Amino acid sequence: RRSIMTQEAMKKVIAQNKKNCWHHLTQHSAYDKDGAAPMVVVEGKGMRIKDANGNEFLDAVSGGVWTVNVGYGRESIANAVRDQLVKLCYFAGSAGSVPGAQFAEALLDKMPGMDRVYYSNSGSEANEKCFKIIRQLAHLEGDGKKNKIIYRDRDYHGTTIGALSSTGQFERKAQYGPFAPGFVELTNCCCYRCPFGKKYGECNIECAHALEDLIQAEGPETVGGIILEPITAGGGVIVPVPEYFPIIREICDRHGVLLHIDEVVCGLGRTGKWFGYQHFDVVPDMVTMAKGVASGYAGISCTTTTEAVFDRFKADPSDKMHYFRDISTFGGCTAGPAAALENMAIIIRENLLDNVVKMGDYFSDRLFELKDKYEIIGDVRGKGLFQGLELVKDRTTKEPVDESVAAGVAGHCAAKSRVIIGRTNRSFEKHNNTLAFSPALISSKTEIDEVINALDLAFADQK
Ligand code: PMP
Repeated sequence: RRSIMTQEAMKKVIAQNKKNCWHHLTQHSAYDKDGAAPMVVVEGKGMRIKDANGNEFLDAVSGGVWTVNVGYGRESIANAVRDQLVKLCYFAGSAGSVPGAQFAEALLDKMPGMDRVYYSNSGSEANEKCFKIIRQLAHLEGDGKKNKIIYRDRDYHGTTIGALSSTGQFERKAQYGPFAPGFVELTNCCCYRCPFGKKYGECNIECAHALEDLIQAEGPETVGGIILEPITAGGGVIVPVPEYFPIIREICDRHGVLLHIDEVVCGLGRTGKWFGYQHFDVVPDMVTMAKGVASGYAGISCTTTTEAVFDRFKADPSDKMHYFRDISTFGGCTAGPAAALENMAIIIRENLLDNVVKMGDYFSDRLFELKDKYEIIGDVRGKGLFQGLELVKDRTTKEPVDESVAAGVAGHCAAKSRVIIGRTNRSFEKHNNTLAFSPALISSKTEIDEVINALDLAFADQK
């Protein structure tokens, strides 16, 4: 039942898009020239998309920002959403819904230690819920002073002012201040550019122990929580060493600090386990997720907590202020959990976690082959189908390539090979030199080889 648009109609859409839409992350002066126009994506199937001019691309970033985990064109998700919308599209407040109840149980089954799910509609918002939980608990259980939230340099947690206050990336943050008070930055944990000048194997995991020093410096009675990405995504695909999270957990426990893991990117299979933190022998107090929850077929995010956190909000009903006084209007949309249920069913039915492990290993091996071939590749890192390449001018000094070089490689892949790859955000003032890949969990060797070939051509042309 797909409607076919005439060429004339498509031209009109391209013009409408150019004239009326303000696009995310876009410098629009690039489109001031006649003939230049932002891309309009028209359709997708599996891992391939088609634009309004009829060009087909292999999408190696799952919808631009690592979201469409199960691939495009899934009729079973569309049908589940359609059936649910016809039955009941929405109801919010203290009532639940059938797919909301069912998905919560299915999700918690994959997260031992987590016991409650709170629905909202974006990753930023899911994170804000945790900040509010931490801050309300500071008031409910003390004088309100245990309200500070620690975040890490190079992590991203969202676009709203609270979530941005907890973000450690120059490019996202600069010029948007003043920020919300009470957010404190911890150093990053990137071994390739160790902030302590150490080498893994010869270090004492200073990046994790730095949390203790920071809490002491701030005053343990003032720190309520810490938010961390399990694997830093937009900040450069940074995988912590195995010791990192257990040390963080122990420090948090000792100081009554809630550990909040932001799984907005890694959640729902991207790294080969249901959640990124599950690689690291740690049980958090709160976990947030969004993108892959419904693979972009509907907007949905979840904030999950332990029963211990949830219980702290229970009180005598006569205490009118002692409950989580938060609401999200679109947390009441049923399309989200209906899509999420079927999204999870697909991951299970098609054994996609196993595929991510296998294809992730294959992808990583092939990226290392490119590293052997091209001096410009300083580092290959990632987990599962979430990989990054850091580009440098010189492997010894690790001086980053100019931003235009990474942009040039990505542009070459799109223009010459019709493969869309990603780039991370500028974490430092001057450069952004990491390419990022997050192909759908259904990737096979064919698509991965296509990405590698595109990179090979692009790097060869750089020489
Ligand atoms: N956390 C992380 C780790 C993210 O990468 C993002 C989005 N890129 C967010 C939070 C914010 O999610 P959203 O854009 O849905 O608000």
